[in-house]
Amino acid sequence: MLLAYVEPVEIAKKSTVIFNNIDYGAIFDYAVNSLCKSLGIIYVSGSTYANNIDICLYSGLLNDPCWTCSNLTHDSFKFTNQELEHFNDIRSFLKENALISGEKCQSIIEECINELNIVLPSQSEFSTLFMPLYQKKVLQLLLPQSIQNYQSIEFIPKDRSFPTRTVGSWIGVCLSGSCLIVNTWIKYIMKNKNSTFDINKPFHNWIQINLSMFDGSYYTTGFPNEQDPNCPICSNAKQMVKQDS
Ligand SMILES: [Zn+2]
Repeated sequence: MLLAYVEPVEIAKKSTVIFNNIDYGAIFDYAVNSLCKSLGIIYVSGSTYANNIDICLYSGLLNDPCWTCSNLTHDSFKFTNQELEHFNDIRSFLKENALISGEKCQSIIEECINELNIVLPSQSEFSTLFMPLYQKKVLQLLLPQSIQNYQSIEFIPKDRSFPTRTVGSWIGVCLSGSCLIVNTWIKYIMKNKNSTFDINKPFHNWIQINLSMFDGSYYTTGFPNEQDPNCPICSNAKQMVKQDS
């Protein structure tokens, strides 16, 4: 998906919804969300951890919230002190610790080095100056206005995976999560087709389920469909529409 990025973009252009269960990291989710917003299509994300399942649905509509309205991306651009101990060269460090690679990443790295005027950053310059600038540039490149234009998106960081072997995340949870992302999408379509539904009532686009509840039940929670006025993805999608009209 990251390397042959052109293909999923072409498929997305013919789709009405994208389901994302891929555990690559927050910036991958940020990119998929931006792609959906740029196309005005539905984004359903599902994640599982231990016995928990979280499902979120975002309509892709201009005035509705998106994934970025309620999620942060800073941690994906940070490294632990233990990781930083082995810092030597920017390119090899980013490749080894965050799977950042490809032609585009080379040009972003060069831009950052030139702007900061540091050729060989120290460990602290790397984490306090270089990485925040790299983050700013990557998030800018992934905005709806340009998200459809790349050959590959290998310049995004991969998050470290949590060790899940001892806490569950067994097939029952994963399979339930996969079924529920489709279920959430169908519920959303039925809501929109239902003429008696009060559109002023917020749609609960967040479902959290814990399969280990003692009575075998589950609970759902929701938050109002409110957009963050400072969300870069939502703002950029609106700007695109303004420019076109
Ligand atoms: Zn947003």
